[in-house]
Amino acid sequence: MDKDRELSKLKNSILKFNKNFPGKNLVFSDGNKDAKVMIIGEAPGRTEDKLQKPFVGRAGKILDSLLESIHLDRSKVYITNVVNYRPDKNRKPNLEEINTFKKLLFKHIEIISPKYILLLGATAAAAVLNHIGPLSEIRGECKNIKIINSYFDILTTFHPAFLLRQPTKKKFLLKDLLKLAKKININKEI
Ligand code: URA
Repeated sequence: MDKDRELSKLKNSILKFNKNFPGKNLVFSDGNKDAKVMIIGEAPGRTEDKLQKPFVGRAGKILDSLLESIHLDRSKVYITNVVNYRPDKNRKPNLEEINTFKKLLFKHIEIISPKYILLLGATAAAAVLNHIGPLSEIRGECKNIKIINSYFDILTTFHPAFLLRQPTKKKFLLKDLLKLAKKININKEI
């Protein structure tokens, strides 16, 4: 598969949804398209909309430092969001938006074809796992799940922005990232 070509086709499909988010920029992805790890967040915030890159604001700084703790950085992971435009007034994407973007996200996953997927927060868990309910019910769990035609190891953890409100929860995020690092190291994949 020509990933660059497929990604550019996907980007064009997502651009059509710009009309639902007037005045907002497309925030598609960052990182390495050949990475074994794909990270999925919720939706861009103000800084991401401005710079047109995911996780470059306050939550992004936390994500970078968490990745560093397991010796990963943006050259070794691929990062995107469920919704690729910033919802008005920083609200969470609603179920309709999640369902609309889910099909595009699944295509995105198929193109990148990572081995591991790290879901950050409830919106990513709703889109990928259909999990509606407290994230704590599934946080830290790793599941092998079929998306389109392939299976992926999918680990769910808290959204890094959650730590801005609840810094004591950092230990859970660190624990989950260590779990991911262990899987990668066992398989000697990065
Ligand atoms: N939060 C997200 O979920 N994604 C971003 O890109 C930034 C903040």
